[in-house]
Amino acid sequence: MLLPKPGEIRKPTKTISGITPIAVMLPPRKCDHGSCVYCPNLNVPQSYTPKSPVVMRASKVNYDAFKQVKARLEAFKAMNHPRDKIELIIMGGTFLQYDKKFQYKFVKACYDALNNKISKTLVDAQKLNESSKHRCVALCIETRPDECVQFINRMKKWGATRVELGVQIVDDKIYKKVKRGHTVEDVVDATKALKNAGFKIGYHIMPGLLGSNMEKDLVLFKKLFSDSKFKPDQLKIYPCQVMPCSELERMYWKKQYNPYTKEQISKLLIKMLKIIPRYCRVMRIMREIPPEYIVAGTIKIDLRKDVEAELRKKDSKLGEIRYREIGFAMRDKREVKTSLKLEVTKYKASDGDEYFLEIVNEDDILFGLLRLRISKSGAIIREIHVYGQALKLGEVGKLGQHTGLGKWLMQEVEKIVKRNKIKKLSVISGVGVREYYRNLGYRLQGTYMVKNIKV
Ligand code: SF4
Repeated sequence: MLLPKPGEIRKPTKTISGITPIAVMLPPRKCDHGSCVYCPNLNVPQSYTPKSPVVMRASKVNYDAFKQVKARLEAFKAMNHPRDKIELIIMGGTFLQYDKKFQYKFVKACYDALNNKISKTLVDAQKLNESSKHRCVALCIETRPDECVQFINRMKKWGATRVELGVQIVDDKIYKKVKRGHTVEDVVDATKALKNAGFKIGYHIMPGLLGSNMEKDLVLFKKLFSDSKFKPDQLKIYPCQVMPCSELERMYWKKQYNPYTKEQISKLLIKMLKIIPRYCRVMRIMREIPPEYIVAGTIKIDLRKDVEAELRKKDSKLGEIRYREIGFAMRDKREVKTSLKLEVTKYKASDGDEYFLEIVNEDDILFGLLRLRISKSGAIIREIHVYGQALKLGEVGKLGQHTGLGKWLMQEVEKIVKRNKIKKLSVISGVGVREYYRNLGYRLQGTYMVKNIKV
């Protein structure tokens, strides 16, 4: 690895959105329902390939969670990235189908590695992490829509804040064809239960599935945002590829299936990006599959770059969050005006009201956001995020992080809760952010930080 020059950060995009992400891979295990037709079966974590970077790193340490997190912390140190605010993501297969004891041990090991100390219990490890050098500000679990609702309390105990659901498409006929083993109703139920519990929700979407076509993909994609039963906060868009040792591979050789071409995917992506509302962030487009594991389909992993460059050339205004983030504007040396305003978008979702608060400049460059949900379960902040290059705790920022924008968002949200005559505001908080909320008058109640609001 090339070492950075003094003061330089290697691969700055990794922490450009304000946090330092650490992916932790699970040991290989088959999904209980069998195998979705497009999923490769390669004796590595389900749906991954032996040469995926995260699998290679994890298999070297025998999928030991502690060692994986430690190694990533060291790698970020070598690249000169701040390592104060860590977002953990547990990936590979369906974590919630593993043995329950293993799940707890795995999560605890992640906190232990961040703390550089092995605690007796998970609660002890979390308590220690509240003031540790490497704080877990967010924890993400990937799961299936049918392995979710029954485990919400468990995920809360782990300190999870975000759940990524393998949704792919919202169509029961296609689910059957591709052997997903769950229904659209499962997606609807999981989305509602997760939102009511305060989780941020990401959907994995897969255009070009068996039984779909460009038109159908677009119609069903629009539905994600027009039907209040869905409305995800984030998306990962992974067009269907033919991978080795999958049922789809056999169909491909028998000429029963063809993936989209690069041109088709680009065309579809441009249409999709244009309809994504302001409250949704596209985390990633295209899976990082090593080209030698793609039997058919596009190998262009960085397709997003081309698509966005084309959209920017045409001066297209997109609502999607990542397209508007200050970190990328600064990286691309675009002009960033610093007079800021607050915008609030209110929308209905899963039988509740969502308030999406944003701090933007006059060119709609996004500095920070907050998601508030008001439903029968009460008022809950599902996310607060200030964008820009991640900084160390206590470091004074110039733009974006550490300039008081978080406090501004918190003051505004409390006003909204007060106007709605709600006496208690809860926050789903990463363990490492509890201290921040304590300083704003919140206290720990169960797994949430809460504050009484005078109405
Ligand atoms: S649920 Fe995910 S990991 Fe499991 S078989 Fe289907 S695609 Fe693969």
